[in-house]
Amino acid sequence: MSGVRDFRLEFLGTGTSAGVPCIGCSCSTCSSTDPRDTRLRCGAAMRFVDPDGCPRTLLIDIPPDHRQQALRHGLDRCDGILVTHAHVDHIFGLDEVRRYNTLMKAPIGIHAEPEVLECLHRIYPHIYAPHRNVNTSYVADLYDVALHPGRALHLFGLRIQPLRFLHGRLPILGFRVEAALPDGRPAPEQPGPLPLAWCTDVSGIPPETWSELDGLTTLVLDLLRDRAHATHLTTEQAVDLAGRIGATRTRFIHMSHELRHADLLSRLPEGMEPAWDGLVLGEEFSSEPGAIRAD
Ligand SMILES: [Zn+2]
Ligand SMILES: [Zn+2]
Ligand SMILES: [Zn+2]
Repeated sequence: MSGVRDFRLEFLGTGTSAGVPCIGCSCSTCSSTDPRDTRLRCGAAMRFVDPDGCPRTLLIDIPPDHRQQALRHGLDRCDGILVTHAHVDHIFGLDEVRRYNTLMKAPIGIHAEPEVLECLHRIYPHIYAPHRNVNTSYVADLYDVALHPGRALHLFGLRIQPLRFLHGRLPILGFRVEAALPDGRPAPEQPGPLPLAWCTDVSGIPPETWSELDGLTTLVLDLLRDRAHATHLTTEQAVDLAGRIGATRTRFIHMSHELRHADLLSRLPEGMEPAWDGLVLGEEFSSEPGAIRAD
């Protein structure tokens, strides 16, 4: 059996919780004509062919802009969603996934920590307790998969390790993703951007997480703005952490309108760049800003 192939990490959104442009703002980023300065809320799609030859799509987070992102990227399936934490900008697109249920005629696994699953059940009673809806309505069909940091998940030939990060005082998850052997161990040959780690909404890395960040080809890391923030990394902190992690390449996400793409790019060390909406990291695929249009 061959392993995972044609793996692509697609950046569906790279902006902070308010999105960029912000409502009612005319700053130089919000009025920029550079498509890389338009940022929807943070999320990603991992698209690949599994060891049985089936195309798969796993999502990381499900932000309120998911419908727009799915249309822009031509997403037509969802084989599972990995949720980092239950903040609005990461989960308020959950209603939209009912379309994937229709397309695939299958329920979708929501992979999250037990506390996050509890939040989802509280926020979305019309999805999780549909028998209480007054009318029979078109709602998503989901099932829970509880995640625990340090306990790897095996999905479609991938080994996905939930990683503990701190988001201010809130413990949240990031994910290390790599191709696995049939016995579940990491494969010696990793396609394209793997191994990768997706680390959004980070302000601190606990000691136990560091060893899980070794040997990365791709690090995706939070970087909110230059000024200090209680629950996100500044440019200086993100660059320092990324340097210590030492991935082959680092792409930053969750950026606010205080950062213009071109300006930030010019200030970052070799191997580190701001990500942008529509960026795709894959084996033979390269994307151009604006090719997937900001609308
Ligand atoms: Zn966020
Ligand atoms: Zn602005
Ligand atoms: Zn958050």
